[in-house]
Amino acid sequence: MISWIQELTAQPIVAGFSTHPDWDHVLWHAELGQAPRYGTAPCATFMRDVRSNEDWKARAYDGLPPEIADETPLDLYGLITGLPAQTVQIPWDGPKVRIIEHPAHAPGHAALFIEERGILGAGDMLSDLFVPMPDVENAANPIDDYLIGLRLLEDVADDVDVVIPGHGSAGGADQVRARITQDRAYVHALRDGRKPRDLRIESPKPGWE
Ligand SMILES: [Zn+2]
Repeated sequence: MISWIQELTAQPIVAGFSTHPDWDHVLWHAELGQAPRYGTAPCATFMRDVRSNEDWKARAYDGLPPEIADETPLDLYGLITGLPAQTVQIPWDGPKVRIIEHPAHAPGHAALFIEERGILGAGDMLSDLFVPMPDVENAANPIDDYLIGLRLLEDVADDVDVVIPGHGSAGGADQVRARITQDRAYVHALRDGRKPRDLRIESPKPGWE
């Protein structure tokens, strides 16, 4: 996996960003080098707490899908450099990347918006594969939070040409609002105690597992 990233970029990796503190977003491989891996302050705090447990590695291992657990290096797992609260862009020399921190899926979740390219990296939001996953473990009001998160993403929707979710496939400009509408409908159904009508459940695409 590592070599294709480097072949693709043909450039050294100078920075990483973890959109949120879920296992599949805080992995790192030694071959990727020493670049800082940024995250929001709450994301970094969450992962520091995780790593402060004496048995964190065993717990992280147990949380991995069994089919990849033995080949997943954990030494660099969750080492996130927290950016100070209110940091609005990634501290690097590349294109300006706006950090859109928002409640919804996980503590300190952030989408990244590369304005000059119209690219929105949505973390675990706006997936065409997964229905919304509100943060029921950590949030006091997970449903309300989710709706706030969708609204904050909607604020930039007009300027997005490509949306890239952490799971599923990228979508074009028309997909941004479509996915927000779809996710909002799902969350409204949860809120109102209705069974959500959602194509992602009714005819799931491969990969939803
Ligand atoms: Zn997640």
